[in-house]
Amino acid sequence: MYGQTNDRQVQLVGMQVEEEFKQLLDWSQSRFAQLPWRIDRTSYSTLVSELMLQQTTVATVIGHYSKFLQKYPTIHDLARASEEDILIAWKGLGYYRRARLLHRAARDFVKTFSGAIPTELDQLVEIAGIGEYTASALRSIGHDLPALAVDANVARVLSRYHSGILNPTINRDLRETLYKFYQGYLSGLSSRALNEALMDLGRTLCTAHKKLCEECPLKANCRAQLLPDDFSMKKPSQEKFNLHLVRVLVVRGNKILTIKRTLGQWLEGQRELPSFLAMSDDKKLKQYPKWPMKSDYKKWPCFSTSITKYRIKNYIFRCTWQEYQQIFMKPSVKLEWVDRQVEKSNLSTASIKASSISCR
Ligand code: SF4
Repeated sequence: MYGQTNDRQVQLVGMQVEEEFKQLLDWSQSRFAQLPWRIDRTSYSTLVSELMLQQTTVATVIGHYSKFLQKYPTIHDLARASEEDILIAWKGLGYYRRARLLHRAARDFVKTFSGAIPTELDQLVEIAGIGEYTASALRSIGHDLPALAVDANVARVLSRYHSGILNPTINRDLRETLYKFYQGYLSGLSSRALNEALMDLGRTLCTAHKKLCEECPLKANCRAQLLPDDFSMKKPSQEKFNLHLVRVLVVRGNKILTIKRTLGQWLEGQRELPSFLAMSDDKKLKQYPKWPMKSDYKKWPCFSTSITKYRIKNYIFRCTWQEYQQIFMKPSVKLEWVDRQVEKSNLSTASIKASSISCR
């Protein structure tokens, strides 16, 4: 359909494609216009929502986005805040590296452009924490300028529609192909509305694991519509490791003892209860010091969590400050007492849980 050379045919096909994508925009508008980051939008709020949405589901971001913006209503408020406060406000969204990137970007926008978010790609990618994808999203979604932000959802939908490829690999070639298609057929549409509609479709009807073509506004001309569902090209599953950590809970008045995770460590910038490695299938893991006691930690209260490829069993050991000093104290490790009102303390989720289980 897209390789025809007759000018009249190409023009007609182009009109059909644009018409079909207009229906996609209507479909998206009627279902998702009320997402909080699509109401009262600014380029700053787009910066916040884009970073939140990059590795977190829409349902989770809905619960955090408005609160975050109430706390940091302008880019200047965000730039002025401490990293620790931002990590606390980010709690529940996971992947805290994004919170630090957002903070760095806000500071850089304030320093370089007095808090304005520019429209030019080459200026945007110069900002700390802004890669090519986020820059394109700021242009298309934030400023509604002609641009295509190709995340996994956009790549999948357009590849299926344009080339009949069910499970595309995102690389520079694919981005260029999709951008040419966008320029050839779709540049007359609002790029903001188009990007968001493609993301909506890729999240709901045209996902990595299913395609509900009967309900899809693009079904008339989509090249993947008649393909059998073959989602066997999924990523090979990642090797998983089991890990046993002992979380040491030391309480003094209304304070608990914590350690701040530092650069290069898991949960960088957050606080944790002092934690020790009791067992690991991954012999190379160097995230925690070894558990120094002989006692059978497996009889203590326990709960499960996970980080990337690690399945973690967290065992809780409670002791006094005096015992802690005798058994675990190391001069090189900086300890801090923090308020037990944990939501104010930038404490990791596992440490909050350990502290609440043990204090019941
Ligand atoms: S018709 Fe099917 S494969 Fe094509 S975009 Fe819609 S849901 Fe995806």
